[in-house]
This record gives sequence, structure tokens and C-alpha cells, in this order.
Amino acid sequence: MKGAHRWPDGVRCVVCLTVDFDGPSHETGRRLRPLGGHAHGRYSGRCGVPRYLDLFEKHGIPATFYVPGYDAECYPDLVREIDRRGFEVGAHGYLHEAWELGDEEEALLVRSHDILGGLLSRAPVGWRSPSGRKSARTMRVLRELGYRYDSSDKDYDLPYMVRIDGKRLDDMVELPSSAYSLDDFPFYKFSMTPTSEVLEHWKQEFDAIYHENGYFMHMVHPRSGWGSGTAARARAVEELIRHIRRYEGVRFFSVAGLAEWVQANHEHFE
Ligand SMILES: [Zn+2]
Repeated sequence: MKGAHRWPDGVRCVVCLTVDFDGPSHETGRRLRPLGGHAHGRYSGRCGVPRYLDLFEKHGIPATFYVPGYDAECYPDLVREIDRRGFEVGAHGYLHEAWELGDEEEALLVRSHDILGGLLSRAPVGWRSPSGRKSARTMRVLRELGYRYDSSDKDYDLPYMVRIDGKRLDDMVELPSSAYSLDDFPFYKFSMTPTSEVLEHWKQEFDAIYHENGYFMHMVHPRSGWGSGTAARARAVEELIRHIRRYEGVRFFSVAGLAEWVQANHEHFE
């Protein structure tokens, strides 16, 4: 099953580097004032995202930024800047809703879609759920809004085609973000792992995935606090890029770019 997929000619391993903006939406959605000790999300908008834009531009990486609608309202010029510099912007909830939304869900998906669409040169085609929350109807609503992929699920090593009501679609792709170990959050929030060890860990993960001809989906948050926005933690991401670049046959994709490729070659995927 795993051998059935094929990457583009000569490519042995595909890499997506992604940034979940997680700005003041994160605190505001939890009824905290994003000030003082709760201002880590504001760091994303003021320092973290600009730092990653420069980093990815310097290394020519087609990265993807997932932005909650509320954060886009707080930092519209920055969201335009992400787009202007050629990076993909995907949707990531409105107030980073990590709770069940019931009947509110559709209106919130539409609201965030409209906010981002109003700022970008083209409407977002990708979505990553805030805190991994999805409902039975999320994919249906996203598809109606024109989305082509989701990057929320944790159930597979490779991209696969989305199913709605058991029916396999050929125009919507799941790009799983399944490796919690490729997310900065658990290391900096819970285990307080030193940055040097986090980097070493990510390198090991990459080596293993490369040797399976796999798919490396990496995720950081450009916040201060538990994120990777600050200088030393961003430098760890830069060192990871340098490490990956030493391997032959690696191709970096934006998530939308990879989704498009998988869709065009969907017969090779589950
Ligand atoms: Zn998030």
C-alpha cells in the first residue's frame, strides 16, 4: 500500500514547512485579554511571522501559513504581505475555536473564508483545523466554499483522497499533519525540551521519513512562549532546512502545491 504512491520524477521525499499563525485569536477565543503575560500571540503578528517570511524567502522555501480570521483582522497588512511575497495562506478557524461549534460552524467557516479572501490575491484553497477539531460536516462546507484540501487529520503517513459519506472524492485531498513530534507545541509547552534537542529530534524524524520515501509535514507556531517565533527557536528551523537540503531528491512544496499534484495523480494515492 505504501509503495503505491509516486512522487514527481526523481523525487524521493516531499517536504512541507508550515506556520500556524495562532496570534491573539488564541487568547481572545479563550476569553483572555491578549495583554501582558497573555500577549504571546501578539508576538506572532509583530515579530514571529515577519521573521519566518524572511527566513523562508532567504532559503527559497514555498511555505504555507494558516491564519485564523480574527488574526487576519488584527494584522491585515501582514496577511497581505505573506501573499505578496508569494507564500500560501490557508484558513485556520476564526477565533482558533478548539471547542464544538454545533450550528455555528458553517457561519464561522464562511466568515473566515471571506476575511482571508478579501485580503489575498486568491481565495484560500486549504484549511487546517484549530486544535484538530473537526465535525462530520466540516469537509462538506469547505468543499462548497471551493477548498481543495484539508491538513488536519492524524491518521495516515501519506496524503490521501478525502471521503464524504464514504465516497472517495477525486478533487479534495487530505494532507495529514499526523506527527505530533513534528509540531513545536508539545516540546515547548509541556516538556520544556531545549531547542537543541528539538532540532536533533526533527532531524531524526526527517531521516526516517526520507528512508521510507515519505512525506514530511512540519508545523511551527510563530508565537513567543510555547511557539517557535523567537530568534533561537527560529534558528532551529533554519538548521533543519539546511539539514534537509543535504539530501538528494527532496522537493519542498507549499501544501496547496502538493495537494494539486496529488489530485492530478490521485490514482496513486489511497
Ligand atoms: Zn493553531
